Amino acid sequence: MDVKKLFTSGSCFFCQLKTNDAWCKDCEKDFIRNASRCPCCGQKNAEKHLCGACLNKKTFITTTEVVFSYDYPANELIKAFKFNNRHELSAVFAERLANKLKKKTEMLPSVLIPVPLHKKRQMIRGYNQSLEIARHLGKHLGIEINPSLCSRIKNTDPQSTLPVKTRRKNVQGAFAINTQRIPKHIAIIDDVITTGSTINELARLLKNAGCQRIDVWAIARA
Ligand SMILES: [Zn+2]
Ligand SMILES: [Zn+2]
Repeated sequence: MDVKKLFTSGSCFFCQLKTNDAWCKDCEKDFIRNASRCPCCGQKNAEKHLCGACLNKKTFITTTEVVFSYDYPANELIKAFKFNNRHELSAVFAERLANKLKKKTEMLPSVLIPVPLHKKRQMIRGYNQSLEIARHLGKHLGIEINPSLCSRIKNTDPQSTLPVKTRRKNVQGAFAINTQRIPKHIAIIDDVITTGSTINELARLLKNAGCQRIDVWAIARA
């Protein structure tokens, strides 16, 4: 699928038929799938129960909400967003995420923290995709964002290039917190979660610094 060719304005991302949205209603049914997931970490499981990992291990995350599963062809949307400078998709993603979150009755966090990129990576890419999503989400939900609360101090290898077993080690010590005043309830904003190691490392740090509750809101999860 050539995403550059596919996405022309006024037509559906997937089938190219005319639509005012990023994709049409038929393709929504066919392609935007959201699996049932562990409410805590967002790992796919059939029963929507707490997964074994969350039951047994100490987890730093209270809830995870994602818009869709990172499967073909919906994952092509994310690739277009991340690698073909389709910045405007961040608004589309954020709106959908906000609509899901508005239906929830739980307490909303007081601040949104986009997963920081290392400054070298951000320089190459030109922007932080998680920050773009957080900006839109913050407007929808009326929550402030704080992109400087923590930073990425280790320029780690992209998690997607590593075997699952070494991913946790790869992100150890990757983040630093830049303030003494940690909000009590935070939502971490990410674009794609693969194994969850990066998010969990950041959540661990925030919890240790005094945060009491961490929710994770992302566009897609494997
Ligand atoms: Zn379509
Ligand atoms: Zn879980």
